[in-house]
Amino acid sequence: MTPVNNDNHYFQNLKKCYTNNMKVNENILISSLTTMRLGGPARYVIEAETPRDVADAYGFARTFNLPVFILGYGANTIGHDEGFNGVIIINRMRGISEQNATWAGDGSEGVPAERQATWGGVEPAGPAQQDPSSGIRLKIMGGEYWDNVVEYACNKGLTGIEALSKIPSLAGAAPVQNIGAYGQEIADTLVSIDVYDNATGTFRTLTHDELGFSYRHSIMNTSEPNRYFVISITLELHTGQMKRPFYNSIEAYLEEHNLTDTSPAGIRAVVSAIRADKLPDPTTIPSSGSFFKNIYLSEADAETAESKGIPVRRGHDGIKINSAWLIEKCHLKGKLIHGFRINEKAPLVLINESAKSYQDLNQARAKIINKVYDKFGYWLEQEPVEIQ
Ligand SMILES: Cc1cc2nc3c(=O)[nH]c(=O)nc-3n(C[C@H](O)[C@H](O)[C@H](O)COP(=O)(O)OP(=O)(O)OC[C@H]3O[C@@H](n4cnc5c(N)ncnc54)[C@H](O)[C@@H]3O)c2cc1C
Repeated sequence: MTPVNNDNHYFQNLKKCYTNNMKVNENILISSLTTMRLGGPARYVIEAETPRDVADAYGFARTFNLPVFILGYGANTIGHDEGFNGVIIINRMRGISEQNATWAGDGSEGVPAERQATWGGVEPAGPAQQDPSSGIRLKIMGGEYWDNVVEYACNKGLTGIEALSKIPSLAGAAPVQNIGAYGQEIADTLVSIDVYDNATGTFRTLTHDELGFSYRHSIMNTSEPNRYFVISITLELHTGQMKRPFYNSIEAYLEEHNLTDTSPAGIRAVVSAIRADKLPDPTTIPSSGSFFKNIYLSEADAETAESKGIPVRRGHDGIKINSAWLIEKCHLKGKLIHGFRINEKAPLVLINESAKSYQDLNQARAKIINKVYDKFGYWLEQEPVEIQ
């Protein structure tokens, strides 16, 4: 099992057993599996290397009457000090295949030969269907690291996800909150996902329209949480480039650095540089990215906010107040609160600099939320989910 950080020592002491050929790890610290680096032990962590493993893992949890939490890279998830008395299932199936390319389609990519035998009994969803008049379809196993997907697409000159460069995520988690950045979101290119449906105990395909995408939402984090385990995703990309106007920060970077390459690889390079400058690298600096959500308003509430001098942005995703602005105006930027540093360049990001426990987070969060409420009358909401 590969932890998300470099601290391997819990994994050296793993007590491993194999149930139905499936890798079942016991007592794994959630802090070692999540980028905020908080959280006590999870009773079981199962790494699913085939779709069959996913079904078996749910069966295992049912047998022992334990709750399930699906974990990806852990970049938007926080653990509690007491840990999780249940089963965490992680998608470890990797691979990117183009339509019509040779693809096993059974989640066996990257799986040791002796483990591939466990496939039997569950039918693969198979390669995506392709309409030749449209773009190029990529089928990506849900355990693939998202940025590998973006890199792969950009190297082939395919547009559609280049602005989503460097978002820490596994591919299977990407549609859950409809990841987005710099004017693109995964819903723009996602055709379908293959899932294990825990409600019916079956494998099925959900189309884009069935996923109810909106800003940072899909049915998987709204009406149907914990129901679907994403096995693989299918994207449709096109040769070409992103259409102008680009996000202000992209335009500004191009101008400042006198750059003209706006191919997918060019935009990827710009976005990667902008992100490296303002966001902590989760492999070395613990955080969950944006910890607070922006505040969405009705037009009437927006006018009230504006009358108080609060800037409001009207965009395609709705009318919103940038919560980073509220935090900044409370003079919290750069402050260290109960071990959490409010990131200087992106104040929505809390960096776990020296916090030891979820309790520290509780206190830091309350301080920030209360300060913003006292000054502006808005309650900030947390973005990351919690394992409980
Ligand atoms: C430094 C930093 C920068 C970030 N920047 C951005 C950004 O620009 N834009 C953006 O949108 N997000 C951003 N994020 C948030 C994060 O990258 C996304 O939420 C990402 O999709 C999380 O992926 P993950 O694999 O870590 O998911 P996890 O945190 O492990 O899980 C997130 C949710 O998805 C569910 N899930 C995970 N895998 C599956 C699966 N196979 N099937 C079903 N459900 C699953 C989990 O149960 C959980 O509810 C950032 C985070 C960090 C730390």
